Amino acid sequence: MIDERAVMATYARYPVTLVRGEGVRAWDDEGSAYLDLIGGLGALSLGHAHPRWVAAVEDAARTIGLTSNLVATVPQARLADRLRNLLPIDDAKVFFANSGAEANEAALKLVRLHGLRTRRSTIVCLEGSFHGRTIATLAATGQPTKRAPFEPLLDWFRFVEPNDAEALRLAFAPGDVAAVLVEPIMGEGGVVALTPAYLRAVRETCDAAGALLVVDEVQAGMGRTGEWMSVSASGVVPDVATFAKALGGGLPIGAVVARGDLAFTTGQHASTFGGGPVPCSAALAVIDAIERDGLLANVAAMGELFRAEIVRLAPSGTVREVRGRGLLVGVALAGGIDAEAAVGAVRRRGVLVSIAGIDVIRATPPFTIGAGEIDEAAKAIAGALAEVAS
Ligand code: PLP
Repeated sequence: MIDERAVMATYARYPVTLVRGEGVRAWDDEGSAYLDLIGGLGALSLGHAHPRWVAAVEDAARTIGLTSNLVATVPQARLADRLRNLLPIDDAKVFFANSGAEANEAALKLVRLHGLRTRRSTIVCLEGSFHGRTIATLAATGQPTKRAPFEPLLDWFRFVEPNDAEALRLAFAPGDVAAVLVEPIMGEGGVVALTPAYLRAVRETCDAAGALLVVDEVQAGMGRTGEWMSVSASGVVPDVATFAKALGGGLPIGAVVARGDLAFTTGQHASTFGGGPVPCSAALAVIDAIERDGLLANVAAMGELFRAEIVRLAPSGTVREVRGRGLLVGVALAGGIDAEAAVGAVRRRGVLVSIAGIDVIRATPPFTIGAGEIDEAAKAIAGALAEVAS
C-alpha cells in the first residue's frame, strides 16, 4: 500500500492500491488481480483502458489543447449533437460541466431562472436521495447525516418520501413549487428504484402545476440500466436531465441537457474546463462503443444474469432483496449481516464492490462485462456472504 498521509482522509479507503487495469480487471501494487465491479463508481462504462477510448483520448490530447469556451470546438459541438439526438427532450440544449454535482448545480440554476419567471422557488426532492457534495447539491440531498455538519444550507428544498404520490401532491399544496428533482434509481441511497407509476405521477403533478421535472441520471444514466436515461423505462420525459459518470468513461465530464426554452443565455453560466476537447472526445468514444458494440443490450442481459445468479447462489437468510436495473446492482443484506465485513470478504475473494446506503452491496461494472465475469462475481459474493453469516 502506498503511503498517502498527505491526502485528506475523506474516503474510508480499502487496503488496496490499484496500479493497472484492463477491461473489468485491475491489478494492485503487489500483483494481485481483482474483478473491478466498482468501475470508478460507475464511471468506467467501457472498463479500464478500452483501446478505442484510449485512442480517442490520445488523439484529442495530441490534436489541440484546452481552447476555453470562448471559441467553439468540434468535439463539444459533436457531443452536444449526439446527446440531443439520443434523448427525447424537446429541442434539447446541453451545457457541459466537469462532474455530476456540477451538472446538478447547473440544473438548479436553470430551475432558479424558471422559478424567477413563474415566481416559485421551492424544489421538491426525495428522502434518501443523493445529488452531490457541493453546497447546493448537498442541500438537495435527502440524507441528513451528510448535510448536518454544513447546516444551515440553502433553504430551497422540500423533502418527501419516495414512491408516495400523495405526499408529493401535498408538497405542492403551498403553490410555490418550481421543480421536482429525482433520481429514477437512487444509487447512493441503496439502489432504490422509483416505480414507473410514481414517476408518471410526478410528471403529471409537475404538469398540473407548471413545475419542471429534473431527473438526476448521473449514476443511472448513459446506458447503465440498458437505456440512455433510466427514467425512460417509465415512459416519462423530463424537462431537464443531468449526466456524468458513465458519459466520460473515466474522464471528468458532466452534462445538463434541458428543453430548449429553458437554456441559459449568454453570461448566465460558465466553466473553464467544461466541455474541453479531451473529455468530449472520450464521451464520443463511449457513445460510439455503446452503439457499435450493442452494449445497451449487454447491460440489460448481464444485469439480469447477475441478479439471477445472486438469488440462486446466495446462502438463504443472507439477502433481503436484489435490486436495481441493468448494471446498477444492489444486494440488500439481511439483518445482522455487516455490509463492511461482507464487502471485505468479497474483496479477499478478488472482487471489488462498494456499499450503498447502509446495508446494500453495490456493483456498477463496465458495460462490457461478460457472462464468465458475472459468474465469478456472483460466486465471490455468495461465498463472502456464507463466510460473514457463519
Ligand atoms: N448525482 C448522483 C445520482 C450521484 O450518484 C452522484 C455521485 O455519486 C452525484 C450526483 C455527484 O456526482 P460527482 O461525484 O461526479 O459530483
